[in-house]
Amino acid sequence: MSPAYCYLLALHVKRQKAPNMTKTFECSHGGVVCGANIEGESEEEVLAKAVEHAKSAHGVDLTQAKTLARYAQSLIRDKA
Ligand SMILES: [Zn+2]
Repeated sequence: MSPAYCYLLALHVKRQKAPNMTKTFECSHGGVVCGANIEGESEEEVLAKAVEHAKSAHGVDLTQAKTLARYAQSLIRDKA
């Protein structure tokens, strides 16, 4: 396998693995009166930020509430 081929393959895999699609999470969609709009490059990133936000802004620890965390994850949308 030539190095050039390797490089192209790596690029291809990288693009497939991480599509350049911004994910967003709007706190108000969770039924909270809150204008927070969280964005990230992956669901994991958005969820991590949402966990931080819920904790600091609403006093809710999503990591201690699996149902809530899953619910929050289901609210993450691809940014239009
Ligand atoms: Zn909020």
